[in-house]
Amino acid sequence: MKSIVKIMLILTLACALTSVNSSGVCAQSGTAAAAIAAYYSNNKKLMVPLRQVITELGGDVFWSEPDRTVSLHIAGNHVVFNPNLPYYFLNGQSKAFSVFPQNKNGNLMVSFDFILDITEGQVIHREEEGAVLRKQFESFDGNIHNLKFSLCAQDEIYPFSREKAARVPILMYHEVDDVSGRKLGQYLELFVEPAVFVQQLDWLKENNYSTVTLAELYAHWYQGEPIKENPVVLSFDDGFCNMYKIVMPELVKRDMVATFFLHTAAIGSEKHLEEEMIREMVGNGMEIGCHSDSHASLTELDKEGLEKELLNSKQLLENIIGQEVSFFCYPFGKYNSSIIDKLKNYFYQGAVTVKEGQAAFYQDPFQWPRLNMRYQDGFTGFVRKMEALRNNMS
Ligand SMILES: [Zn+2]
Repeated sequence: MKSIVKIMLILTLACALTSVNSSGVCAQSGTAAAAIAAYYSNNKKLMVPLRQVITELGGDVFWSEPDRTVSLHIAGNHVVFNPNLPYYFLNGQSKAFSVFPQNKNGNLMVSFDFILDITEGQVIHREEEGAVLRKQFESFDGNIHNLKFSLCAQDEIYPFSREKAARVPILMYHEVDDVSGRKLGQYLELFVEPAVFVQQLDWLKENNYSTVTLAELYAHWYQGEPIKENPVVLSFDDGFCNMYKIVMPELVKRDMVATFFLHTAAIGSEKHLEEEMIREMVGNGMEIGCHSDSHASLTELDKEGLEKELLNSKQLLENIIGQEVSFFCYPFGKYNSSIIDKLKNYFYQGAVTVKEGQAAFYQDPFQWPRLNMRYQDGFTGFVRKMEALRNNMS
C-alpha cells in the first residue's frame, strides 16, 4: 500500500516536471550567469544546494567529521545541524526543518525556506520561466541578493509537515488487570485497573483525542502524510493476555488503536498472548512492535546476542502477523548508540524509551520518550498529566 502511494507520488512529480526536464538531469549553467541547480520537493518547497547558495551569499560552510555536523556562518548568524536529524540550531535555538536536508550527488540540499530563515530574509521578487527561476530577496541587514536557479526533476523526497502535531504524547502501559492482592513493590506500579483504564479512554474520546499508530505518526512527521486531529499513541509493553482480553475489546468499542510491544520468547507462554490472539489484534487495526526476544538487557549483549534480540525477534513477529514490524521498545529502557545503529541496519524506523516526556518530530526517532501510566496515577493523575501537556508544560 505504502509503496503504491510512493510510486504515485513519483509519477505525479515526474509529470509535473516533464516540461522542465524529462531526463532528470540538471543543466548546471545553460546561460551566461551561472545558475544554481535546484528542484521542487513534493510538498512544493524549492530545494537548493546548501554550500553553493551560502557561498554565493557571502557565508561559510564547514563540515565537522567527529560530531558529523554542518556548521555555517551567514548574515551574523551561526547555524549548526546534523543532516540526519530533522532540526537545526540557529544561534543555539532549535528549529524544525520544513523539509529534511537531502544528499543529492554529494550535494547537501536544503529548502529555500531554510535559507530565508537563517538570513532572516524575505523574497521581494520572484520570476519563473520554464526551467529557470529567479529569486530576489532582502536579508535582515538590508542586503539585496539575486539568485538564479535551473530547475530539474527530482526522483523522490520525503518532506514533513511542521504545521500539525509537532508534539505527540505516547502513553506507556504494561498491564491492565485486576490488582487485588498486590502491594506496591510487587510490580503494582506497572498495573492500571480496568475500570480506571476505561475512564482514561473515555476521557481521551471526550477531549477529542484520536489514537494513532507509531507508523502513522512516523509517516506524518517524516514523510509528509496527514494525521488525525489531536493524535495520541497508546503503547503497551510485554504482551500479557490482558491485552487481548481487556484492552483490545475496550479499544475496539471506541474505534481506537494502540501499539503492542511483544518479546517473542514469551509468546504462547503462561499469561502471555498466543499467536492467534496477536493476529486477531492486528485484524482489529492494532500495531505490533518488537520488544526483543527474551526481554534481555541489551547493553550487556555481544553481536550475536543483539542479532537474536533485535533481528530474529523482528522476523518472527513479521512471520506471525504477515506485516512489517518497524518499531522497537528497549527492554528496561536500556540502549546506547551502537544499539540504535543496529536497529537502523535492521530497518526499524524508530524506538520508544522509558524516558518521561512528550515525543516530538525534532527528536531522534530512536529515542522517543513516553508518559508512564502507573497504578498510582489513577484517573485524576492521568488527567493531570494530559492537561499539563495541553498547557505545553511537558
Ligand atoms: Zn518490558
